[in-house]
Amino acid sequence: MEKRALINIDYTYDFVADNGALTCGEPGQAIEKKITELTEEFIKNGDYTVFAIDVHDQGDEYHPETKLFPPHNIRGTKGRDLFGELNSVFEANKHVSNVVYMDKTRYSAFAGTDLETKLRERGITEVHLVGVCTDICVLHTAVDAYNKGFKIVVYRDAVASFNQNGHAWALGHFEQTLGAVVK
Ligand code: ZN
Repeated sequence: MEKRALINIDYTYDFVADNGALTCGEPGQAIEKKITELTEEFIKNGDYTVFAIDVHDQGDEYHPETKLFPPHNIRGTKGRDLFGELNSVFEANKHVSNVVYMDKTRYSAFAGTDLETKLRERGITEVHLVGVCTDICVLHTAVDAYNKGFKIVVYRDAVASFNQNGHAWALGHFEQTLGAVVK
């Protein structure tokens, strides 16, 4: 049996709330219950549970996203807090040893982080992905996981995007090109 980890990607105020800086809006809010339930299930089960959360510094002229998107998930701001019930679950479990919060500065949770090392140390072979946006950070994380030889599971009701065509395309890509189980 594969040893699994849950990777929670960018489910923050800026990416989900109505007035978030770069929000998915309603589709993002619609997955709140599912992403929260899955996170609780993985934590209770003792599975490694990672919150891989975008961080930017105000006015960072060298960051490639500065030219592409309005400022978002700025370090130390409310926009970077986890959204809704997921924040409560994180706060209640943040001292649990299998729960980890990881800053990331690129789309992929593997880029510039020690995520791969942490997974390998624990013998984890299968990553389960939830969060936003399906066709940006979830996609790039899935592509890296594929290239590194991890098995991938994506929960269609626990990922979302502001771009419905992109969301649908990415779900197909996970399954047909990355060999992921989409459920
Ligand atoms: Zn960003």
